[in-house]
Amino acid sequence: MQPRGEFRVSVTKDYLVFASAHFITFAGHRCEGLHGHNYRASVTIEGALNEESWFVFDFVELKRIMKQLCDEIDHLVLLPTKSDRVKVTEDGDVVSVSVDGKQRYVFPRKDCALLPIPNTTVEMIAEMLTDRLRVHLEQSGARGLTAIEMEIEENFGQSAFYRVGLP
Ligand SMILES: [Zn+2]
Repeated sequence: MQPRGEFRVSVTKDYLVFASAHFITFAGHRCEGLHGHNYRASVTIEGALNEESWFVFDFVELKRIMKQLCDEIDHLVLLPTKSDRVKVTEDGDVVSVSVDGKQRYVFPRKDCALLPIPNTTVEMIAEMLTDRLRVHLEQSGARGLTAIEMEIEENFGQSAFYRVGLP
C-alpha cells in the first residue's frame, strides 16, 4: 500500500470570538490603558486518522469545546496573574489591579477573568487556550493527535499563532 500523507483539521467560525478588555505591559515602564478587542480564535489539529471513523477528530466536538473556551473569557476583563508588574488582588467581590506598585483599577470580580499568564498578549492567550483545549481533548478520549496550532486574532490581519507538538 502506498504510504499515506498527513491529515489535519481546522475550525474557524463566526462564533469562535470573544469580546474582552485588556491592557499589556511593555519592557521598561510602559503600560497600555484598558481597551478591548473582538478576538477571534481558530484552531488546527494534526494527527492520525481515527480508524473507526476515518477522521482526525470530530468537528462537532471540536467546535463545542472551542465555543466553551471562548465563552469562558467573553465579555470580561482579562487580567494576568503571573505578571511581575501587574498585581491582581481578589477581595470578596472586587478585584484590585496595580501596575508597578501603583493602584490602577478596581473591577467587580464577576467581570474579570484571572488568567495564569504573565501578560495578556495574543501569544500568551493562544498558549493558554491551547493548554485548555488539550485538557478537553484528553478528556474526550482523543487518540493519535500529534499537534495543535491555535491562532488568536486581536484585530484584522493581526494575530499570533501558537503550535505545540503532542507526545
Ligand atoms: Zn490590545
